[in-house]
Amino acid sequence: MNKDRLPRTARRALLLVGWAAFSMQFFSCSPGPDHPGHIDAWENDPPAYADEQRFVDDALRIDIAAIDATLTYLPQAAAADGTARVRFRMRPGQTRPRIHFDPACRGSVISSWTLDGREWATPGDAFRVVDVPGSTQRMLEFAEEVDPAREHELIISYRLALPGGYPCFSTSVHDLKGSGNEELFPTLNTPHELARHRITLRVAGAVPYRCLGSGSVERTAAGDVQEWVLDPEREVASYTLMFVLVPEADTVLRQGAIAGIPVRIGAFRGGADIDAAWDELESWLPQLVADIGPFPMPRGLSVFLVSGGGGMEYFGATISSLSALSHEVFHMYFACSAVARTYRDSWIDEAVTSWYDRTYPDYLFPIAEGFRSSMVSGRSPVAVGFDGRAYYQGTQIMETLANRLGGRSALVSFLAYVHSRYAFAPFSTMDLADYLLDFSGIDMRGQFREWFYSDDAGGTADAAVPADCAAPPDLTPPRAILRRHGLDQGRREREGGAR
Ligand SMILES: [Zn+2]
Repeated sequence: MNKDRLPRTARRALLLVGWAAFSMQFFSCSPGPDHPGHIDAWENDPPAYADEQRFVDDALRIDIAAIDATLTYLPQAAAADGTARVRFRMRPGQTRPRIHFDPACRGSVISSWTLDGREWATPGDAFRVVDVPGSTQRMLEFAEEVDPAREHELIISYRLALPGGYPCFSTSVHDLKGSGNEELFPTLNTPHELARHRITLRVAGAVPYRCLGSGSVERTAAGDVQEWVLDPEREVASYTLMFVLVPEADTVLRQGAIAGIPVRIGAFRGGADIDAAWDELESWLPQLVADIGPFPMPRGLSVFLVSGGGGMEYFGATISSLSALSHEVFHMYFACSAVARTYRDSWIDEAVTSWYDRTYPDYLFPIAEGFRSSMVSGRSPVAVGFDGRAYYQGTQIMETLANRLGGRSALVSFLAYVHSRYAFAPFSTMDLADYLLDFSGIDMRGQFREWFYSDDAGGTADAAVPADCAAPPDLTPPRAILRRHGLDQGRREREGGAR
C-alpha cells in the first residue's frame, strides 16, 4: 500500500491524529482477545520456525487448494449475490476447519451451506464465530469435524450488502490494516496461503460495465447478464486478487504493450491522467525488468487510476493514484509474487519497495546504531496487518543492508536474487537473513534478531505509522459523472466537510 505524497511537515502534523483514527478503525472492526496481535511467547525469543508453524496451523486449520466464486453485482440493490466453492485439506494435526468470511461474522448473510455434498437445513447451525488468540480477526469454525486424510468441499451462498451511492463494485484490500478479500468470499486471510482462484463476475441490468482485474479477465457469454471470468492462472494469496466493475460509459481505457508487457490503464472519464501514467510506466517497467527480473505476471498489468488517495497493489493489478503508481507497480515483485509468510513478515514488502523507489521516505539513511524493535516479534504470526515502522525504519534497514553489501546496485542484485528464487514461495523475516547469507556470505542474523525480534528501543509502531500510509485509493468519480447519476449533492457535502 502507499500514500499520497505530503510535505514532511504535514506528515508530522497528521501523524498523531491519523494514528488515533486508524487505530480506532482497526480495533473497532473486530473484537478480539485481550491484547490483539500480540503473543507473549514470541516477544524477546529468537524465532523458532517449527513452533510458529504449529501455532499458525492450530489457528488457521485448513490449507486451501481452490476457490471458485461467482459474484453477481446488483447495482440497483447495492448488493452482490455470491456463491463460493472452496476445496481444502486439513493442516497437520487438525480436524475441525475454520475459514475467514467477515460478512458472516457480522451478521446472518449465508443462505446455504453444503459441506462434502451434505446441505445443512439451517446454515447458521453449520458454524460458530470464534475469536482467534493473537488475531483481531474472527473466523467461522465448522460445527463438525472432518476426515484429515482427504480433500473437502464447502459450497456456500450468500448476499453481500455494498455501500450505496455511485454504482461501482471493487475489491478494497487494506494490507496495513490487514483486511482482505474475506469481505467478498470465504478464504484464509494470510499471505502464505496460496490458492487457485477463479472468480466469475456478473452484473445484472442493461447498463454496460467495464471490468479490470488480476490475471486473465475474459468476457464470457451468459445470456442477458454481463459476465467476466477472472483467473490469475496460478496460486496466489487471496488478498492480492483485484477487480473493478464500473459503468463503461463513465470510464476510459488505454491498452497496449510496454517493453512487451501487456498494460491496461482505466480511469474515470475526465478523471486521472492515464497518458501521464502511461508515460511513467514506459520508463519504470523497463527499469524494473532490467533491475529485478522479468515482469512476474504473464498477463501483464491492469491499473485503475484514481484521482485521489494512495494506492493498493494486487497480483498484476493496482488501484492507484498517479503519485503512488510507481510504488504499487514495484510491489508486483515484492508483495504480489515474492510474498511474506505471515502478515508480520510483510514489513519486507514495504521496506524493499520504499527503499527502491525512494518515495517513502524520499531520502535514504542507515538505521541508527543500536536500533532494536519488536517490529516482527511484537505481533502474533496470525495477526493481520503489519507494523507501521516498515515504512521509515524498514527503509533505513534496507539502506544499512545496501551499505554492508557495497552499495545500491549490490542490494538491487540481492533483491533480484531473492525474487528469482523465492517468488511464490512465502518466506519469513529470518529466511531473508538466511538468503542474504547465502547470497553474500555476510551473516546479519544477529542484527535481524535485534532489529525485528527484540524490545522496543527503536520506538513503537504507534508513533511510527505515517497517517497517509493508511489512506486507501479514492474511487470517487469526478463531479460530472456523479451529477449524471444524480449523486452530486452528497459529494458537495462531503467535500465541504473535508476542506
Ligand atoms: Zn506499499
